[in-house]
Amino acid sequence: MYLTEYHHHTDNSIDSKANMEEVCKQAIVKGIDEICFTDHYSVNPKLPTYGHMDFDIYFSQIKYCQDKFKDDLTVKAGIELCEPHLMQEEYHEVLSQLEIDFILGSVHNINEEKLRKFMNEREKNEAYQKYFEEVYSLVSSADIDVLAHLDLMKRYAVQTKGNYAFTDFQEILHAILEKAVERDIGIEINTSGLSNEHVGEAFPTREILKLYKHLGGEILTIGSDSHHAHTVGNHLEGALQMARQAEFTHVYTFTKRKLNRLLAVPGT
Ligand SMILES: [Zn+2]
Ligand SMILES: [Zn+2]
Repeated sequence: MYLTEYHHHTDNSIDSKANMEEVCKQAIVKGIDEICFTDHYSVNPKLPTYGHMDFDIYFSQIKYCQDKFKDDLTVKAGIELCEPHLMQEEYHEVLSQLEIDFILGSVHNINEEKLRKFMNEREKNEAYQKYFEEVYSLVSSADIDVLAHLDLMKRYAVQTKGNYAFTDFQEILHAILEKAVERDIGIEINTSGLSNEHVGEAFPTREILKLYKHLGGEILTIGSDSHHAHTVGNHLEGALQMARQAEFTHVYTFTKRKLNRLLAVPGT
């Protein structure tokens, strides 16, 4: 059984203190075979993630870990972009110079406002709708491999305004997933919601996974979105179970932005 962790942060992200080498060691202890680091990056000076990433340091750490752990762990260089459908030229200019294996695209802000604040200041369903519309814009034009944590907004609403009902947003979710399939963009099972006692479910839900599959979507990655070494690969088993339940037969990995391996979902 080949286990993959395709969403992990280190101290190259503004909100993590995790040491990359330590994350790799813990990944090996947990039986993970391949890890893709996906530290935050933004070209927008108004966003909190701006200005933290130093690509020379990031890539030298990745190279060091690739060499050091080559017998036990495959290490990939990914990146998680904030709103990559905006300022596309600026993103392209930077990213085209780099040997990136994998790009995750995320909506973390709407009109440069953090999601939590955006939700707090609006009526619940209006905020969810606006969030999904932003995700639709992202998936319609951004140059990414996989859409991160598709229904992330619920993280910022469960404790105050509550979770959303799939049936209330079926139309926009359908449009997002149809566009992803059309543009060969994958989705991820992000298990950080399972690690959060208030959320208690993955991003996205099983219904969304099933809809993506139903619309012809095949490209699926799994990641914990962990910001600590000791939580690497958290709830990986649960994610694989979800993938099986949604009838996915494979989990994907990437090399230099190409789908390079189809891994059978264990148990199928
Ligand atoms: Zn994110
Ligand atoms: Zn992340």
